[in-house]
Amino acid sequence: MKSLSNLLGGIPPSATIAVNDKAKALKAAGHDVISLAGGDPNFDTPVHIQEAAFAAIRSGNTHYPAPAKGTKPAIDAIIAKTERDTGITVGANEIIVTPGGKWAIYLALAGMLNPGDEVLYLEPVWVSYPPLIELAGGVPVAVSLPSDDNFRISAELLRAKVTSKTKAIMVTSPSNPTGRVCTREEIDAIVDIANEFDLFVIYDELYEKLLFDDNKHIALLAEPGMRDRTICINGLSKAYAMTGWRLGWIVAHPDLIKLAAKLHSQTVTSAASFGMTAITAALDGPQDCVEEMRQAYLERRDFMVPALNSIDGIECANIEGAFYLFPKFTKTALGSLDIASRVLDAGVAGTPGIAFGSSGEGHLRFSIATAPEQLKRALDKLAQVVPTL
Ligand code: PLP
Repeated sequence: MKSLSNLLGGIPPSATIAVNDKAKALKAAGHDVISLAGGDPNFDTPVHIQEAAFAAIRSGNTHYPAPAKGTKPAIDAIIAKTERDTGITVGANEIIVTPGGKWAIYLALAGMLNPGDEVLYLEPVWVSYPPLIELAGGVPVAVSLPSDDNFRISAELLRAKVTSKTKAIMVTSPSNPTGRVCTREEIDAIVDIANEFDLFVIYDELYEKLLFDDNKHIALLAEPGMRDRTICINGLSKAYAMTGWRLGWIVAHPDLIKLAAKLHSQTVTSAASFGMTAITAALDGPQDCVEEMRQAYLERRDFMVPALNSIDGIECANIEGAFYLFPKFTKTALGSLDIASRVLDAGVAGTPGIAFGSSGEGHLRFSIATAPEQLKRALDKLAQVVPTL
């Protein structure tokens, strides 16, 4: 057999999916394993969104959608949502509907990168960013955020990594895995650096509706000088419990959208036709479902964070958004891969911090998008195993 792709050969599989698959396999083999490794809400998709998609299918909406980059009702719903949340009126030519947020990120990168272009990402980083940059022909460059300063972003840290080849900065807020929400000062630092060095900012807003306390999601699109350089990545997966539907979108400059549409037309064609209907139902429909889920995550956070902190050997920051806890294991010399393995042996699957880059070492990521009774059982198991690490 001829050799296969070197590029794909060098790309790791997603660590979160791998740990979750392993936990599911152990469970299927009869082990008592609670998986806190995935990023999948434990809620069903709200009924009114399901019904809209069923109705679309029954009325024959099962063909290639037109326009392929997004039907008019779906695009109109995204325009209205963007205006509500950012105060900016975007045009239909600034939007493409994608099969999921991850593909939206890939399209954005593929649309802007030439071989050798560098992209800054903030560590701890969601596992897929560096591989996605490489797949799109770019060079991933880590900006390590300090664990002892609650992973705070500063202009100095960003500036130190900018070179003449830097094309973009990738920012996630709220962050997976740290649960941090970018503050006004952090957004100012990103805006300053982007404007100073003429950089794009890929702004991943998948968790923007899952905010706690008085944290606010700041609209980068509306910041000075950012209208043409911001690439908003969004989707229905997290806020509407629709991970399996594979629905996302990009809001960006029309030239980038044109290139992304070309890549779509030669690869996936489009998102699913009835999925376009689900976008309209989700964004234009009642939002109490989102608030109910947010409230549930908040209650779990308020229960889990103090309980984890009461275990000797764990320090857990109080997260500001999203649904991941990122506790640090303070009294062991083990690395996060070994910690994850020992914790899994004790019946709890968490994602090792190293999967999110070297600044995640010493941490595990636990998803609280998990039923409360499972979280309670996981805590009992952690209380037993952590002191033995
Ligand atoms: N961006 C972040 C920060 C994520 O955590 C995820 C999924 O875990 C995605 C994007 C991808 O979302 P989707 O499932 O819609 O592809």
